[in-house]
Amino acid sequence: MNLISRCAFLVIVSAMAFASCGPQPSPAPSSQATWALAIHGGAGHFGEEDLTAAQEEAYEAALSSALELGQALLDDGAPAVDVVEQVVRLLEDDSLFNAGRGAVFTSEGTHELDASIADGATRNCGAVTGLQGFRHPISVARLVMDSSEHVFFSGHGAGVFAEGQGAESAPAGWFDTDKAYRRYRRAAERAGDTPVPLEEKRGTVGCAALDVHGNLAAATSTGGMTYKRHGRIGDSPIVGAGTWADNRTCAVSATGWGEYFIRTGVTQDIHGRMLHGGQSLREACEGAIFDEMGALGGDGGVVAVDAQGHVELVFNSTGMFRAQALKTGDRVDREVAMFGPYQP
Ligand code: ASP
Repeated sequence: MNLISRCAFLVIVSAMAFASCGPQPSPAPSSQATWALAIHGGAGHFGEEDLTAAQEEAYEAALSSALELGQALLDDGAPAVDVVEQVVRLLEDDSLFNAGRGAVFTSEGTHELDASIADGATRNCGAVTGLQGFRHPISVARLVMDSSEHVFFSGHGAGVFAEGQGAESAPAGWFDTDKAYRRYRRAAERAGDTPVPLEEKRGTVGCAALDVHGNLAAATSTGGMTYKRHGRIGDSPIVGAGTWADNRTCAVSATGWGEYFIRTGVTQDIHGRMLHGGQSLREACEGAIFDEMGALGGDGGVVAVDAQGHVELVFNSTGMFRAQALKTGDRVDREVAMFGPYQP
């Protein structure tokens, strides 16, 4: 049994290290956190029996690498908005995940990529949907935020904008992987049985961060859902459904069945519960996931941080690839986990 990937995993960097089986409560800072970082690699209905030991190790390694990159940037004083972009870029290049390289196929056998980024300091955001041929959709979303007077571009126009900004293109075939193609073929054989079964919907990537300057940011990137119809837009590129950041409340990235996240505006719901309802980050995430999105029949989860450095990883699916790190003083707490059920 691979202890690291089957158990919630905490490391205290001050030399003490331990691991324990079963879900662990999210680290909560005893005093104001120096920085905080939360990452996901998708949610879905999967358990230990669905992954081989080698697959678990691969996911654990990928999530750990993403944590390490984010930690290093945050320790250097990088702005949260740069950190979430860089972490998501790393995951977009990893074919394990359904974002960038490794993205799922549409029903037409193409890749239509979605991404969004939100900066809690400025309450600005940028997003793209149906993007084709660019290696890092999250960086195109960042360009939309920083270099246009708009916040959201789609399809052909998104590509024209990306090209005009000099975004890195990707050669034909860059996004294709055998795993995604097999899922596509399975879905094609069942054509008509839409939406695609729950176990096929995982691998979206996202990150939320609080930096040493007290600023929050979040980013999300995905290929969407296997065998999605041409032009279908999920929650990931929609700020307020899949992504949110506001220094007054929280930074959130979501993953799951996008239609339900859009119908209940999950990430903005979390913000509103905190801002107007006085809820804690945990209460707000649980309310949005279980009482609203889940109550309609949707499934998935969120990773979230607040301005005090609380971190929450909340999901109603059976699993969510997730990781978090929290620095308080000289101490760093880390966790990498995959399986559920969610326990506060
Ligand atoms: N939320 C994504 C979408 O619906 C999929 C996922 O997160 O698994 O496009």
